[in-house]
Order: sequence, then structure tokens, then C-alpha cells
Amino acid sequence: MYDRILIRFGDLTLKGKNQQEFVRKLYSLLEEKLEGLNVVIEKKHDHAYVILGNSDYKVVLNRLDLVAGIHSYSLVKKISRDLEELKKEALIYINEEVKEKTTFKVETKRADKSFPYTSMEVSKIISAHLLKNTDFLEADLHHPKFVLKIEIRNDGIYLYNNQIRGLGGYPTGIAGKGLLMLSGGIDSPVAGFLAMKQGVEIECIHFESTPLTSIESAQKVIDLVKIIAKFAPNSKIVLHMVPFKAIHMSLLEKIPESYNITIMRRMMYRIASKVANKNNDLVLINGESIGQVASQTLQSMATINEVTNIPVIRPLATYDKLDIISIARKIGTFNISIKPFEDCCTIYVPKAPATAPKAYKARKYEENFAYEELIDEAVSNTKSIVISKDMDLDLAMYGLEVGEAINEYNKIK
Ligand code: ATP
Ligand code: MG
Repeated sequence: MYDRILIRFGDLTLKGKNQQEFVRKLYSLLEEKLEGLNVVIEKKHDHAYVILGNSDYKVVLNRLDLVAGIHSYSLVKKISRDLEELKKEALIYINEEVKEKTTFKVETKRADKSFPYTSMEVSKIISAHLLKNTDFLEADLHHPKFVLKIEIRNDGIYLYNNQIRGLGGYPTGIAGKGLLMLSGGIDSPVAGFLAMKQGVEIECIHFESTPLTSIESAQKVIDLVKIIAKFAPNSKIVLHMVPFKAIHMSLLEKIPESYNITIMRRMMYRIASKVANKNNDLVLINGESIGQVASQTLQSMATINEVTNIPVIRPLATYDKLDIISIARKIGTFNISIKPFEDCCTIYVPKAPATAPKAYKARKYEENFAYEELIDEAVSNTKSIVISKDMDLDLAMYGLEVGEAINEYNKIK
């Protein structure tokens, strides 16, 4: 019965040029995510219609949930601007939508004032008509269970009742670009998603320690990027794979056990900052959440953070783990994240990591560790790869080291 979806845009309190940019970006995402479906997008300046044609609206709705910046949407029926037609169609609509006794009201908006009845009059006429011709409705102006919405515009009358929340936020890309530190865990993909939802285009960086860790742990990261790439412009995200084994081994040998994690994370921040600078990423993004583990106490964050002056965005800083998991399930990363392959943070976990590591101690321990060279080497041996949502890359298939496998893949692509 629906022939279109009305899409309402997000935060249009933005002014002037920003607003135009918002709408432009949103349309470009919308067009891309609906590609391949037999639908037409009707563009207005603060809302849009997707004309369904013969497409299944459920398929279309799933695609709309990939577009950040959409505030809400409604399934809509469009009819001609005629009161008799409206009466007839409103009755069909209510008979289809309402199956049992319910309270209801009619709400009319008249965007086009040339229509010969006021909003009030239309609501009254239609309510009376519906009450007279059905036996399951009871009028309730204050707390109705069902609201039939009528919008009178100059090109027709629109009927709907539902309003489904969209992703909200801002169109991905409008805020600029950031570098997501992506592990194989539950948190960082969710952090990446939240950043994208807030308008940030992301690239990803992963520190891999194969063969200390398994090749599957690197594969997991690729598989996670494929999932979150669905939300990205063009459904593509660049992944920078950093060979981390040398630094990893060296610090296990040279740094007191209780500071292993602290120094390891300082090295990650240093490398990520260099890679971010090289690629014009304005911020670092990670999945840290206050208090979750030893390395995420405030003292620990401060000690780790001091090695960079790039802003670090932590979308999950204040999130509860259960809320993080529920987002991970919704976006489809959870089942990949919980696959049991160790990564560099789970291997050789110190028995008693410092929960309040001090920056001056970290600095002192780093003095007998020639990390600058190792870092430069890691950065120059970093392999970058464009991951798209439906690419088919199986690292193990190459029987090579991770970096070499990526090289090979990039060559044949
Ligand atoms: P996650 O579930 O995202 O792995 P976590 O709770 O396991 O998080 P940590 O292992 O302490 O937390 O890591 C904190 C953050 O540091 C991660 O969310 C991620 O952003 C980043 N990080 C950790 N390990 C790596 C890695 N190997 N490569 C890139 N980033 C990493
Ligand atoms: Mg982790």
C-alpha cells in the first residue's frame, strides 16, 4: 500500500553553507546506498522521498540504516489533492493499519495554504468519516494510540502514521577524516561506527604481531573493516596494517613487565600519530572506555596520551560494556569480534599490569629502548589496503606473511 518513504534529515539547525553541505553529502550517501534498487529519490531541501516502484520497502529501510544524518523516516502513501479521495483513502489506510480496537486521532499539516480547507477542518472531517465507517476506533485527542498523519502539499496529499528513527548524526565524511585504532575486539569497531555516524570519515590502523599472533587475528580485522565499510562513503575504508612484532618482542624483553602494556600503547599512539600525519587524518579514534581494563584508568590514559599531540577521540569513554555489545550486535561486528584469536594485547598479558602507570616512569623505561628506529621501520613497512564491503580477501590463502600477502593482493587488484 505504501508507495514511498519520507526521509527527514538530521540536525538542520546548522546554518548557511554547512547546511547545504550537509544536504549535498546526505544525498550523495543516499544515492550510493540505494544503488542497484529500483527506486527514485525525490530531493527536497530539508526532506526527501524514496519512490518505491516495485521494490520491497523492507530492503530499502535496511539500506537507509546505513546513511548517517537521517533523523527519521516514514512509510507514506501519496494521493491526489481532493477531499473525497482523501476520505476514501484514509479509510482504506486505517482498515489496513489498524486491526483491533484502538484510540486514535487525525493530525493534519497544511504546507500548501491554497488547499480550500484548514488543517483543523480536514482533521475533523476525516475523523468523523473514519468513526462513522469503522467499529474499532475511539477518538482521543490527548493520548491516542494511533495517529493518522495527513500532510497537504502542493503536489499531493501524504498519509502516514509511523515514524522510525534513522541513524541520526551527520553524513559520514562531512566532519573530516580520522584514524581509527582497530583491534580485533568488540569495542573499537563500535567506536569507529559511532565516529562515522557523527560525520567522521575513517581510515583504520591495526598493529599486527604475526607470527607471534595467528594470521586469523589479522584476518579478523579485515573482516571487521568489511562490515563497518557498509557505512562509509563508497562503502570503502583504507586499512593500514602495521608490522608490530619487532617492537612487541623488544619491549617484552626490555621493559619491566608491569609497564609492558603502557609502553606498548605509547608505541601504538606514536606510530598512529605518524600514520595520521602522513594521511591527513585530523584525529585518532579508539575504543578505550574508562575503567574497563588496567590500561584504561584515567591515570593510564593520561600516561599513554602524552606521547601525541593529535586529538584522541574516544567515543566509548563513558559507555557501559552492555551498551557497547548491543551496538556491536546491531551493526553486525559482534560475532566476528568474539572469535577467539589472540591479538597483540592478549598475548603475554602481564600478571600484574600497573593500573596507575606514571608518565615519568614510562619515560625512564623507554630510555634504554631504541624505539625511534623501530617505529620508523614499522611506519615505512606499513601496508595499506582499500577494503570494500564485499571484497574477498583471505590472507591465509597466500601462505605468506601478512604484509606480503597484502602486497600480492594489491598487485593483482
Ligand atoms: P577492543 O575490544 O576494541 O579490542 P579492549 O577492551 O580489548 O578493546 P584494549 O585492548 O586495551 O581494549 O585496547 C584499547 C583500544 O586500543 C582498542 O579499543 C583499540 O582502539 C586500540 N587497540 C588495541 N590493540 C590494538 C591493535 N592491535 N591495533 C590497533 N588498535 C589497537
Ligand atoms: Mg583488544
